[in-house]
Amino acid sequence: MPEVHPNTDQVIADNREYTLFSWSVQNQTHPIHMTGGKGSYFFDADGKSWLDMASQLININVGHQHPKVLQAIKDQVDKMCFAGPSFATDVRAELGKKLSEVTGLAKSFFTLGGSEANENAMKMARLYTGRDKIITRYRSYHGATMGSMSASGDPRRWPVEPGIPGIVRVFDPYMYRPPMGMTAEQWEEGSVSHIEEVIQMEGPHTIAAILVEGITGSNGILIPPDSYYPRLRALCDKYGIVLITDEVMSGFGRTGKWLATQHYGITPDIVTCAKGLTSGYMPLGAVIVNQEIADYFENHFLSGGLTYSGHPVSLAAAIANLKVYEDENLFEHTLELGKHLGERLEAMKAKYACVGDVRYIGLFSVLELVKDKATKEPLAPFNGTSPEMGKLAAYLKSKHIYAYTRFNMIWVCPPLVITKEELDAGLDAYEEALALVDQMILGPVAA
Ligand code: PMP
Repeated sequence: MPEVHPNTDQVIADNREYTLFSWSVQNQTHPIHMTGGKGSYFFDADGKSWLDMASQLININVGHQHPKVLQAIKDQVDKMCFAGPSFATDVRAELGKKLSEVTGLAKSFFTLGGSEANENAMKMARLYTGRDKIITRYRSYHGATMGSMSASGDPRRWPVEPGIPGIVRVFDPYMYRPPMGMTAEQWEEGSVSHIEEVIQMEGPHTIAAILVEGITGSNGILIPPDSYYPRLRALCDKYGIVLITDEVMSGFGRTGKWLATQHYGITPDIVTCAKGLTSGYMPLGAVIVNQEIADYFENHFLSGGLTYSGHPVSLAAAIANLKVYEDENLFEHTLELGKHLGERLEAMKAKYACVGDVRYIGLFSVLELVKDKATKEPLAPFNGTSPEMGKLAAYLKSKHIYAYTRFNMIWVCPPLVITKEELDAGLDAYEEALALVDQMILGPVAA
């Protein structure tokens, strides 16, 4: 249970004085002092419980402090805490085999997280094809290391521009706001056909890979139409391009399946994953490759790997975490609860003037907020914020609901273990916040 911390002001002060926080202007950070957690809740130093509607960074899928994952970590620490990356270990064999089984791919290369997985996926595709360009999409995030940040399309890449050479970007299957004035119907066709035009103009012999998020996460749960992936798969086959899907956020149960692309009946050539692989209990990512790429590296040098690649404690955490998914039927639960979540989101869209669009699959969902449903004018500008978004976030914070907001969007991505009652309590608070936003855009009487 949460307890009041005796010295929280000093801890926060020392955090700020001696450490640098990521993705922040340092003098604008107001960190919550987190002291523990259980299931869908985490605890702060004031002894308050927060409902975690963001699963931290959409990664702690089995919830906070799951006893089975904790036990597996403790057991592995007692048995063998470290083995260098060129050693065979029991846990490496077990996790590699499991990942092949659940993805239908051949072999896994272990990394420390998602960014490094994408670095290695791009490198492997370049080595395998002998080509250098990587096609990515604008509304994407692939990580914060140099290559993966360059490969990302959203503004988080701007600080490292021009970044690594060879990245070519295309538009996204963002059906609520298709580019170039197209309708959603036109864009269903155009979203893949323009990629073929880009391939032609760049030279098909120069394109090593197309790298896309399985389902776009931090740019707003962009769910492609059913035709998208089969057509993208066919395009890659036609031109000998490696299809890499980044399932760092969308994989491992978030959408109710092992991989988001399994909803579309296609198999990528390479899958990258992290987050839900261990639910964040230990740092781990993986690059999972198909048989052809695995065969290529049978007699070609795989130039890559870090001291901590394949860390036994991380692998043990992943094995236990995947077992929790299966033993507790968490994917079935996610699909079932996802239906309820979808109904509630649709009802919010119907009820509140500020809800322009809702997108959801499993427990991976977002509300996109607007000033005006007819014009779709966003409630905050792209790469910016607004008083309305500030109010929404502050209200949820005051209720100890932890939510992820960005630009004009608010996500609903709780741990997969969340109960219907907990989810409903969180969504009730979202509704109270949306009512406040409606008052701001419509005036108190109209709302
Ligand atoms: N890809 C996607 C789709 C992500 O959402 C993230 C992290 N939010 C990453 C890659 C980077 O992963 P990591 O932070 O583990 O390096």
